Amino acid sequence: MDGSSIPRSVTERLYYDRDAVLEFQAVVTGLRAGGQEAGSDGQEKPFWCVALDRTAFYPAGGGQPWDKGLLVTALPNAESLQVDVERVEEDEEGQVWHTVREPVAVGAQVAGRVDAERRMDHAQQHSGQHLLSAMFLRELGLPTVSFHLGAESVTIDLDAEKISPEDLYRVEDAVNRLIFEDRRMLSHWVEREEAERMLARGELRKLPERAGRMRIVEMEGVEFNACGGTHVRSTGAIGGLLVRRVEKVRQGQRVEFCCGLRAIRTARSDFARLRELGTLLSVGPADLAGRVAGLIEDKKQRAKERKLLERQLREMEDRLTASPQKSRPGDEGRGQS
Ligand SMILES: [Zn+2]
Repeated sequence: MDGSSIPRSVTERLYYDRDAVLEFQAVVTGLRAGGQEAGSDGQEKPFWCVALDRTAFYPAGGGQPWDKGLLVTALPNAESLQVDVERVEEDEEGQVWHTVREPVAVGAQVAGRVDAERRMDHAQQHSGQHLLSAMFLRELGLPTVSFHLGAESVTIDLDAEKISPEDLYRVEDAVNRLIFEDRRMLSHWVEREEAERMLARGELRKLPERAGRMRIVEMEGVEFNACGGTHVRSTGAIGGLLVRRVEKVRQGQRVEFCCGLRAIRTARSDFARLRELGTLLSVGPADLAGRVAGLIEDKKQRAKERKLLERQLREMEDRLTASPQKSRPGDEGRGQS
């Protein structure tokens, strides 16, 4: 993934080498009025972008969304101002901007706190993606072409024509075995020339285009990856990976998956839906498919019978129309007015 180069003389990134840093002290180095934007309540409100000399907030990048959290600063009247960090972005110079709803003075000391649950969720999904992509490559020779981490779903797109269910389960099992083995995830900083040598030796699959030092994330015994995202410390903290579905897209096959608590919540809601269906059809989840197949067959049979009955009805009507000498119910009195 891109975004692994160190920008010079800009925001120091505390998440690079110390992924677990979620609380930090910093100084405000820049403030920009951002205009108006709808808040979480849907109301249009002004917002400001705050730059800090150092931050533990991850800006969006490499398919991974930004961190959220809080900035707290002391006011001259001895009260403190606490603002929600709603969005975090990196500009072209590598400066990280934190979007808030109150201006925070340049030069002010702030305490930052990253939303730990959101960070852990993103780190689990993103680290799981590293592992899933590595296993698709190792087991099936399929490279990943893109990654998307959304609030609802996490997907990778593979350069592949087709993936059989057996191959998919084999990859999913290989990923989960490496999660149980709790392999360490380590960060290394290397010069671009060294990264290019790693690429030439086949240790890296691709490099970001930006110059400068690179952050290489090593999943012990599995792979090296040039990546600027946030990761768990070892694969055990991914918790587990569940593949949900595969669908054909323009550039290949899209695999939807989820890791950690998301996998638990997803499996829980999937099972709740199965139970709901089972209650409606009065069968257990294991017999649902058979019951639904029976209902579909029954529906087809009834449609056939209905067609047959309709045809018979039309034929009878035609016969009656073709025999005017025979009186029909409702014909009495016709033409007498
Ligand atoms: Zn990464």
